[in-house]
Amino acid sequence: MKKVILDKFAEVFGDNQGAKAYFAPGRVNLIGDHTDYNGGHVFPCALTLGTYGVARKREDNKLRFYSMNFDSLGVIESSLEELNPGEGENWTAYPKGVIWAFGEKGMQVTKGMDLLLFGNIPNGSGLSSSASVEVLTGFILRDFFGFDVTNQDLALIGQYSENKYNLVNCGIMDQFAIAMGKKDHAIFLDTATLSFEYAPVKLEGAKVVIACSNKKRGLVDSKYNERRSQSEAALKELQKVVDIETLGDLDEETFEKHQDAIADTVCRKRAKHAVSENQRTIQAVEALKQNDIELFGKLMSESHVSLRDDYETSCDETDLLVAEAWKNPGVLGSRITGGGFGGCTVSIVKDKAVEQFKEQIGKVYLEKVGYAADFYVVDIGDGPCVL
Ligand code: ADP
Ligand code: MG
Repeated sequence: MKKVILDKFAEVFGDNQGAKAYFAPGRVNLIGDHTDYNGGHVFPCALTLGTYGVARKREDNKLRFYSMNFDSLGVIESSLEELNPGEGENWTAYPKGVIWAFGEKGMQVTKGMDLLLFGNIPNGSGLSSSASVEVLTGFILRDFFGFDVTNQDLALIGQYSENKYNLVNCGIMDQFAIAMGKKDHAIFLDTATLSFEYAPVKLEGAKVVIACSNKKRGLVDSKYNERRSQSEAALKELQKVVDIETLGDLDEETFEKHQDAIADTVCRKRAKHAVSENQRTIQAVEALKQNDIELFGKLMSESHVSLRDDYETSCDETDLLVAEAWKNPGVLGSRITGGGFGGCTVSIVKDKAVEQFKEQIGKVYLEKVGYAADFYVVDIGDGPCVL
């Protein structure tokens, strides 16, 4: 891949003298969705799928961008003088946002760059291609300018830029999972404190399989923001009767005792998910540590039910992928992953059942939905690197 992207860089920008190649992963969250802004735990891992980049520092303040995923847009030119939070014309708002965010944090980017990207993660499918681009850009800027930032800082800067420049109200999970990725490990992260632990994912005789629904997502941001405000409303009401800072502070028993304090039944369901999903995530990591993959899978499937019925962030297409997966005896667990309303499912599938899984679910999906799903048998990889 390194040669392919360096050659492409030379084709697009004239030559590749002084250019360097980089990679940042995508991520999948194994369990713990919509807990990251509720002070709960998440359990994502970096993938060997991700975003490749070639970058070269310039002597002037020009920014020249090209993405092989958006080749019809050609080279997009801008400059360090044209960093405008809220702009959203095209994909370059992601790398530009990160350059801007470094400046906001007191690390001025003083020279422009030529940047070429190629990603093999599906865009807009909940595997965090946007966070992958952000962390990749931050990693390149650190390499170019020697900024004194850790990988964890790169995650925080990426989130800051997505929040403030791209106006997407995301939590910290995606950027953290990508910047801190570790081969064959998932990251058990407490989003309230950012304390974390690497847990080995040893799925002897099984694989992590991602199914992408390819459903076009509309109005996702508004639904996401609605879920956030419903959770916040529920928290405010609970805080009148119990001393907590976040929904992640509650166990299920305490929640049940106090849930009537939440007047609105929809907000109550949202809070129930935030509380139960956090507890499930804690249990799932424990199960994995005990090598109890069966229990881990069962908790993943329970997570889907909670996201479908209580948080209502699934949709017909992802419900179908999961329901078909559950029918397969070689599937240990299956759930929607990511923000929801489309996107991907993640399943733990026994090696012997993987081919049948793809074939059978693919066939039913095409028949019922009218377009194909894509399947990725994934490996858990490291964080960003120089190639
Ligand atoms: P997700 O993060 O779930 O993949 P988002 O909608 O948050 O979905 O981010 C997708 C956007 O990120 C793309 O529309 C594009 O603007 C940007 N992006 C991701 N990967 C690339 C890439 N390889 N090249 C250019 N832009 C990319
Ligand atoms: Mg994203």
